[in-house]
Amino acid sequence: MNKNMKRTLISYLLVFALILGVLYLIQGGNQNVNQQYTETQFAEDMKNGNVRSVYVQQNAEVPTGTVELTMKDRSVVRFYITDVNVFKELYNELSEKQKTDVSFEMSDVVRPSTLEKMMPYLIGLVALVVVVMMIAGMQGAGGGGGAMMNFGKSKAKMTSEEDNKTTFNDVAGLREEKEDLEEVVDFLKNPGKYVEIGARIPKGILLVGPPGTGKTLLAKAVAGEAHVPFFTISGSDFVEMFVGVGASRVRDLFAEAKRNAPCIVFIDEIDAVARRRGSGLGGGHDEREQTLNQMLVEMDGFSVNEGIIVMAATNRVDILDPAILRPGRFDRKISVERPDVKGREDILKIHTKNKPLSDDVDLHEIARTTSGFAGADLENLMNESAISAAKDERKYIIKEDVDKAFIKVGIGTERKSRVVPKEDLRITAYHESGHAILFHLLEGVGPVYTVSIIPTGQGAAGYTMPLPENDNVHVTKGKMLNDIKVSLGGRIAEEMIMDDISAGASQDIKQATAVARAMVVKYGMSPKLGLINYETDNEEETFVGRDIGHHRVLGEKTAANIDKEVKRIIDECYAEARLILEQNVDILHKCAQRLLEKERIDRAEFESLFEEESVVPLV
Ligand code: ADP
Ligand code: MG
Ligand code: ZN
Repeated sequence: MNKNMKRTLISYLLVFALILGVLYLIQGGNQNVNQQYTETQFAEDMKNGNVRSVYVQQNAEVPTGTVELTMKDRSVVRFYITDVNVFKELYNELSEKQKTDVSFEMSDVVRPSTLEKMMPYLIGLVALVVVVMMIAGMQGAGGGGGAMMNFGKSKAKMTSEEDNKTTFNDVAGLREEKEDLEEVVDFLKNPGKYVEIGARIPKGILLVGPPGTGKTLLAKAVAGEAHVPFFTISGSDFVEMFVGVGASRVRDLFAEAKRNAPCIVFIDEIDAVARRRGSGLGGGHDEREQTLNQMLVEMDGFSVNEGIIVMAATNRVDILDPAILRPGRFDRKISVERPDVKGREDILKIHTKNKPLSDDVDLHEIARTTSGFAGADLENLMNESAISAAKDERKYIIKEDVDKAFIKVGIGTERKSRVVPKEDLRITAYHESGHAILFHLLEGVGPVYTVSIIPTGQGAAGYTMPLPENDNVHVTKGKMLNDIKVSLGGRIAEEMIMDDISAGASQDIKQATAVARAMVVKYGMSPKLGLINYETDNEEETFVGRDIGHHRVLGEKTAANIDKEVKRIIDECYAEARLILEQNVDILHKCAQRLLEKERIDRAEFESLFEEESVVPLV
């Protein structure tokens, strides 16, 4: 059970207890009152001589009251009367008729004590306080005393520049990300320099990456480095039951930020508000749209060099509303990936700074065995190790503590990250090396920017990323063929080295097929089928300007021919790609080896693999 759920549960229990208490209080006075007993029955009892004495208690709100009858058999009956005077007359009448000696007593009007009078108000007040506390609690903010009437106020937390001790030194790895942000820090420190020369500093920076990779940490470090206040709020804080609250919170947040500029506003989990508009399921998405609109309005509203930098974090950039990524909004995107071996070792170093280690704890070794762990997982691992040491009354951590913590963290964690088995890493290493080598050697594709075997948040086991391609006006046949070869390279490398092949190439195969098919049906690049558009999924286009009866529906034979051509293209690409990889099998091994060591290699390191070896020239 997470913290929030616990808090909500406790709130509900409190309210429940309160309701019970109120019910009890209301009931309390009536406990022995017989609701069924009426004045008619009283008359009966009088006639039958059952009554010994009558005591009438007048209520504050005359004329009502309560009667306490003591019967002959000593039992006591209490019942309500609506009018004491009417009752008194009834008694007089009855006692005259019966000539009995039933005693009659009547109290003065009961004046409730001040406390009793206040009771309903007190109960109301307590209830109100509890409800307010509950609402404030659910919003998870330490709003302080002013929380009561501030439903519209932003729930942002501000860390002032004096309190923020986080710097880039606290962020391990993420070297390039820090470099990118260096510029923002400099801008916040001396905006004048940039204003003078007319430079436009981004207003919004989107940090994209899996949970626990240090996005929040990085944002906070930027504020810490620049010595500016840091406002943080979570996207889910904006999403409220009440329409309009989110939007007004956004307004408050930015107003507050403007008062404190230069500063950083950090919106965590921005996907909670900035989801594609119109894609909400059921209720509540009106509110979200309003909130998002307000956010866009605010971001458009302040000028570029006002000194507010909005940073936001998400692990799902694909579900964000494209409007948020437009220039002048979040136009800078920094992806924060899971750390590689070296990064993990550095993170471990940071989180063991104040934890003495015994000699048998080898951080490098721990880093090696935690592929797929994010920074937060490593922090958790070392924390658990320290707890284990403390349990044993030890002042330092030994290897056994780490091993124990490893099991605990590895199994207990809800996170997606997990330890990747060695064999899987090996398959991925060869697979990605296959792609990378072809990227490098083939014309018109590449160069390779990064090769990685660190699992991505999106479920891929690794990736090979080419540099963003230059805007080729013409995509040529040769480039398309090479694209296909690169796509097939992963599977080919697996086939060459492993005894078995993995299912991990399905996306590659789909991609290759799509390109080959487009060549045939769309671009007229198959001599056999000629310069004819055979596309079927875009019917309208196909029919425009064509004779009726021409290619209305693909004939069975045509369809078969297309498939044959697609297969021929892929087969030929396969053969060529395989030849290239076989000629460079040494590099394939070396590249895979390097990947297994470092998990991620950059362009320079990748290209150096080719220099060391005499590369077999392409024919
Ligand atoms: P995110 O916001 O990406 O989910 P956080 O910034 O909240 O991740 O990270 C959670 C914790 O994990 C941090 O407070 C820090 O202790 C640890 N951590 C994550 N990444 C790093 C890193 N690169 N260097 C040092 N510590 C890290
Ligand atoms: Mg975070
Ligand atoms: Zn692949």
